[in-house]
Amino acid sequence: MLVYVFESSQGVSLLDVGWNTDEALDALENGLHSIGADIRSIESIVVTHIHPDHYGLAGRVRELSGATVALHPLDAMLTRSRYLDPADLLLEMRTFLMEAGAPNAQVEELQNASLPALDRRSFVEPDIEIHDNEIAPISGRSLKVLWTPGHSPGHICLYEERFKRLFSGDHILPHITANISYHPQSGENPLKDYLASLEKINGYDIEQVEPAHEYHFDHLHTRIREIQQHHVDRLREVKKALESQEAKTAWEVAQELTWSRPFNSYPPFMKRMAVGETISHLKYLVSSNEVYASTKGPVRYSTVSL
Ligand SMILES: [Zn+2]
Ligand SMILES: [Zn+2]
Repeated sequence: MLVYVFESSQGVSLLDVGWNTDEALDALENGLHSIGADIRSIESIVVTHIHPDHYGLAGRVRELSGATVALHPLDAMLTRSRYLDPADLLLEMRTFLMEAGAPNAQVEELQNASLPALDRRSFVEPDIEIHDNEIAPISGRSLKVLWTPGHSPGHICLYEERFKRLFSGDHILPHITANISYHPQSGENPLKDYLASLEKINGYDIEQVEPAHEYHFDHLHTRIREIQQHHVDRLREVKKALESQEAKTAWEVAQELTWSRPFNSYPPFMKRMAVGETISHLKYLVSSNEVYASTKGPVRYSTVSL
């Protein structure tokens, strides 16, 4: 996880802040000391999206520094249910898993799979909502907010035109493909959103990319084509799983896809991610009329009209 630090005469601004752990806080402190700053000099925290590896530590750092926290409104909407009061979200997750066709015996552990990541101490609602095309609240720099929904509904990248540089968050990473999952907080068609956001970034003149994970890279437009191809291949694989013409649940389709290891050997949290990723591709195919979905019970998908 990479945190970017911007210095100006007014103080220090951060882009993303890291997990809510003591280790992450120590690492941040050490990094700041190495440039002659410290936690108290932070005046502004801009977060690319709501995920806990990016947003988790925002509450503690705001407490220690008095910094403002900025997030896109569509992710700001999710902070309360994700970090403070997850009861409704857990119920929605249960419905989601039943609709996906998860086996009854596994629903409970799948539903609770992300509870260990919850930490109430860190709950913070953003002070500032940042929108598409605004200049991010980072003093001394002109970083334009580009709204890029898909990986999360309120994901943003920052574009520094002067240096043809993009801070890409999790939207575009040099090697890993960002997880594009359907889930109770993803929006109706996250893959469609994501592919549109890739096209949007493709239209900018960018020579350097600073992602939130892995490493700096410069071949943005080639990387975008690779990611597009990855989803084309994945969509083809999902359709192939439905070729037998027998309608299948998302859970059944997920078992037939290739993963980094066999689906059934994944721990509950990874299984849930894999099913969410499968559904985002199924929903995309439904929206382009290539696949049909039943409307009731565990949703069944088929390449012929149901
Ligand atoms: Zn993320
Ligand atoms: Zn991340």
